[in-house]
Amino acid sequence: MALRWGMARRVLSCAQQEWQCLLFQPRMERPHGTWINVQPARRADLARNADAAFERSGWLQDVHATRTLFQKRRDHIMDENNFSEKDWRRLLRHLGEDPSRQGLRDTPARVDKAWRDWTSGYDKDPAEILKVFEDGAEQYNELIVVRGIPVYSHCEHHLAPFFGTATVGYTPNGKIVGLSKLTRLVECFSKRLQVQERLTIQIAEALMTHVQPLSVGVVIRCRHMCMESRGIQTPGEETVTSALLGEMRTNLGLRTEFLSLAREKD
Ligand SMILES: [Zn+2]
Repeated sequence: MALRWGMARRVLSCAQQEWQCLLFQPRMERPHGTWINVQPARRADLARNADAAFERSGWLQDVHATRTLFQKRRDHIMDENNFSEKDWRRLLRHLGEDPSRQGLRDTPARVDKAWRDWTSGYDKDPAEILKVFEDGAEQYNELIVVRGIPVYSHCEHHLAPFFGTATVGYTPNGKIVGLSKLTRLVECFSKRLQVQERLTIQIAEALMTHVQPLSVGVVIRCRHMCMESRGIQTPGEETVTSALLGEMRTNLGLRTEFLSLAREKD
């Protein structure tokens, strides 16, 4: 039985309990194709037995079948728009490889999983990470510095890895955060497509915003694959970036202390 297109669309957009609303329409198409007027007196009656009425006429099965068809089509369209293993295979082919050879057969799935991890920082909220702070720091207003925090990121210009370490320091103003929180904060911003300069300032600003210390300092040293492996090859060369906020900008003694701690190699 054919449903009129307009009607089918309306039916498809309705939840089952909304069948009743449909029946309140003054005109309905019947299986034999003629049009009838549903009188108000009959509407309540029809609504009460809505599902049964549909089932009896075979409409319900038709609607379900049509809905399944549309869902399948929609899922298919969504699949087509999503980046999938198929696209990684295309990339391998584009690079001159044979994606079906033994060594590469599982590569698309592995790469997909790896990139989910390398970009998992987009799902993390710095406010959430820094929400829990520890009390008991009211009297402590000395510089706290954590060195050697691992940084693994990807440059947004080449999608190439850059990696190294971060030093994060701050002078508390009544609140201190667990040291592991600083590592997680660095991870939250580094597991995104980045440039090192922005990464540095984002970490500093997040700490300043959510913990409100008197000062914040961040120094990051990284080696960039895109620089080292091509162009002017300078293996082992580090890029150093820093961001200083609050008293770190005005207090020369504090700044010198932080930068000297950040400079010392482990
Ligand atoms: Zn790059």
